[in-house]
Amino acid sequence: MSLSVAMFSAQRYDIDSFTAASADTPVTFTFFEAALNLTTCPLAKGYDAVCVFVNDELNHEVLNILAATGVKHIALRCAGFNNVDTAAANALGIVVSRVPAYSPESVAEHTLALMLTLNRKTHHAYNRVRNGNFSLQGLLGFTLHHKTVGIIGTGAIGLATINILAGFGCRLICHDPSPTSAARAQAQARGACYVTMDELYTQSDIITLHCPLTSATRHLIDTSAIAKMRPGITLINTSRGALIDTRAVIKALKQRHIKALGLDVYEQESSLFFSDHSLEIIDDDVIERLLTFPNVLITGHQGFFTEEALDQIAFTTLNNLRDAENKQTGGPGFVVSG
Ligand code: NAD
Repeated sequence: MSLSVAMFSAQRYDIDSFTAASADTPVTFTFFEAALNLTTCPLAKGYDAVCVFVNDELNHEVLNILAATGVKHIALRCAGFNNVDTAAANALGIVVSRVPAYSPESVAEHTLALMLTLNRKTHHAYNRVRNGNFSLQGLLGFTLHHKTVGIIGTGAIGLATINILAGFGCRLICHDPSPTSAARAQAQARGACYVTMDELYTQSDIITLHCPLTSATRHLIDTSAIAKMRPGITLINTSRGALIDTRAVIKALKQRHIKALGLDVYEQESSLFFSDHSLEIIDDDVIERLLTFPNVLITGHQGFFTEEALDQIAFTTLNNLRDAENKQTGGPGFVVSG
């Protein structure tokens, strides 16, 4: 077997980890820095598979072209697959695979980094002290111990977050419409209680999102959800940007209803994230407004970005490519629409 794969949105670290992992395998990668979209999809001509990431666009039109050029497999090198029209892919006979859990702890730890930084304001303290300003004015935080944290989604990352927060002595409440029995048992063993969404909104001091982006969860956090939250809520999103209605959140920040906002993902991130725009004028007024708030911390989708996760992503993606080639597509890494 020999397999040619066109990787899109390839960054230096992708090239390094996939080149190392594919040595001594029959898989050959060609790396394209460009994202996959309607303009760039002709680049995939002649390849057996494409390997894509969170902001590549695999809508029906793109998939039609990929199918016509002979691509048989879309290998996502991430967990979420909201950017792929899976029904269209399945109808066209294109296999879709992903990396369901490469290091849930990496994202959970980044979630805590956002929570702790916003609360204790270490990002401001770092800059202050470097400028010789040792004043504590404005840096007051709260102890996490005994605070109520609401976890929305108790899959791999939600559970890893629960594990860490249990160590902080937080009161943990969670919501998930369909937790697995193992997840439920694991959450409850850490002292977390399943509650309704409304109970989670009204009781939490901090809310953290760990559910996938679907048509049901798009703008889950909108004006009416925010209105149910306690004034002074800290909101963290390391899942997918469109879980939050960003304009509603900006309004609530201006009204001082939201005390702090930590984002690793952003609704319109595809045109900004993973590249350097520091010498350009950014046209997106929504993210620019967010960046003016002292109580908003944004990172550029780096929750997954640990050495361990990169190794696991490359390893699992290569396994998915091999399994698809052997027609073994029944495993958890394969996405069937429905
Ligand atoms: P998972 O599939 O293991 O768990 C998701 C959980 O969310 C499931 O238990 C599901 O039942 C639950 N869920 C679905 N709809 C819900 C709703 N309306 N309310 C509450 N829960 C709901 O996924 P995971 O590995 O834990 O990842 C969660 C999300 O994190 C992914 O979908 C992805 O978007 C995001 N992610 C982000 C990064 C990053 O770098 N920031 C990295 C990996 C994954």
